[in-house]
Amino acid sequence: MPTNDQVTDALRAVIDPELRQDIVTLGMVRKLDIHANGVVDVTVSLTTAGCPIRDHFQTSVYNAINALDGVVGVNVSFDVLSSDEKQALRGKLGRKSLPEGALAEVKNIICVGSGKGGVGKSSVTANLAAALTAAGKQVGVMDADVWGYSQPRMFGLGGGRARANERRKIEPLVGPEGIKVVSIGFFVNEEQAVVWRGAMLHKALQQFLEDVEWGALDYLLIDLPPGTGDVSMTLSQLLPQAKFVIVTTPQAVAQSVARRSAEMAAKLELEVAGIVENMAGFTTPDGDSYPIFGEGGGRMLAEELEVPLLGQIPLTMALRQHSDGGLPAVISAPEDAASQALVATAKQLISLSPVDLPMMAEPEEPKPVGMSLPVIS
Ligand code: ADP
Repeated sequence: MPTNDQVTDALRAVIDPELRQDIVTLGMVRKLDIHANGVVDVTVSLTTAGCPIRDHFQTSVYNAINALDGVVGVNVSFDVLSSDEKQALRGKLGRKSLPEGALAEVKNIICVGSGKGGVGKSSVTANLAAALTAAGKQVGVMDADVWGYSQPRMFGLGGGRARANERRKIEPLVGPEGIKVVSIGFFVNEEQAVVWRGAMLHKALQQFLEDVEWGALDYLLIDLPPGTGDVSMTLSQLLPQAKFVIVTTPQAVAQSVARRSAEMAAKLELEVAGIVENMAGFTTPDGDSYPIFGEGGGRMLAEELEVPLLGQIPLTMALRQHSDGGLPAVISAPEDAASQALVATAKQLISLSPVDLPMMAEPEEPKPVGMSLPVIS
């Protein structure tokens, strides 16, 4: 069996074509496990989830290790350098920026999740996207709620199909007010998505991040499936820079639900930006409010997690009707109480975001990518 040093030495042959140094010197070899049965597991840390040269690394790392005597198998996996590690790498290389791939021009990534289904997470995502757009932001929505996707319908894009452009990148569909939307629903039929699990899902989500031409965005909102399944875990690994917004209902005072959300946040290891309490009372046309689903759940969860309560969205007819009608209520019924609460929530979210400009990637030639999703063209 090769020793740790021998494998490390072999990996010095793997050069990052953009940074033009080997991955050992660059500190990108995160984990190396040499098993007694001759299998070597190696994790390489990339500068970004959307690293366009991942395939190059996959092949070169595999070949470098596989050539060593005694090695019978090589598992190459990837993760992403933390912002501190990137900072250190920039310092080491004397560069202001690192190549950042497909999400290079996305300033804020917000994952919207919930402990359980039916709390209005998808409606809140769509309407927050609309409210951020109304505040002059460029917004994209990635529908990662694979088994219950609803963003196509919310933006009137049901039945739409994603296409590849001349650069072999996937074009998001463009909804009202220029909101860019990508959903599994644009690639496969509902029955097909239902059977997706594990590796296939991981690959699809990775493609949504790497091969979609999101362009310049102020916010990319990601509608997560409820709870912490494969999808949420995959995304939190691929997007360590993302922030997490938890949608809950007022009756979440039931300690177990609050605890589940807190555990979910801890498990995903993403920074929690704040809580949105949805279905916070029913407001009649006369302005009377009835706390149908109880009170206090959002605040309680916010206090427990020590994060801001970003907004409390009342139950209204308009929110439901307009979400189902293909135009978010924030756009179609701006005077509605829920719409106004969502606009206020979006303002809170904006106030949390750093105002400094992101490091821009150096211009690079777009590279063709292999697409395994059945894109219809
Ligand atoms: P989730 O994504 O959490 O499963 P949805 O966004 O699909 O939840 O919402 C579930 C249902 O509740 C939908 O019919 C939606 O229109 C409705 N709904 C969500 N929030 C509100 C609200 N504040 N007022 C009225 N109806 C709402």
